[in-house]
Amino acid sequence: MDALQRRNIPGIDPRCVMCGEEDESAEHLFSSCCVAAVIWQQVSRWCNIPNLLVFLVKDLLVAHDFCGLNGGKKEVVKGVIRVACWSFWRARNEAKFNRKTISIGGILSEIKSGFVVRVPPRFEVLAFG
Ligand SMILES: [Zn+2]
Repeated sequence: MDALQRRNIPGIDPRCVMCGEEDESAEHLFSSCCVAAVIWQQVSRWCNIPNLLVFLVKDLLVAHDFCGLNGGKKEVVKGVIRVACWSFWRARNEAKFNRKTISIGGILSEIKSGFVVRVPPRFEVLAFG
């Protein structure tokens, strides 16, 4: 929403469609939004890593470096985070533009299924259950 707000485009609700509590910005959506916090907590649990601490969007780009894993497993976590960002953004767009209801369970399912489809075969043995 940041770009639209800067352009003063009228008729667009600036509130975050994920939580409805604050104005949407990239930083809010991916870091301080309570829905995002649940997603990062569940992704951390799924990957069996310490909770992802996301204070800024850019933290998501390096979070895998601080997950306590190395090599292929660290790359898998990096991939899961990327897929999670994409799934979260897709859910936001479906809610914003198609008025679909937000489902944390649905987002998590999409992350897991999306990741299984995209994971290179050599990482399959490293994928999480
Ligand atoms: Zn929000």
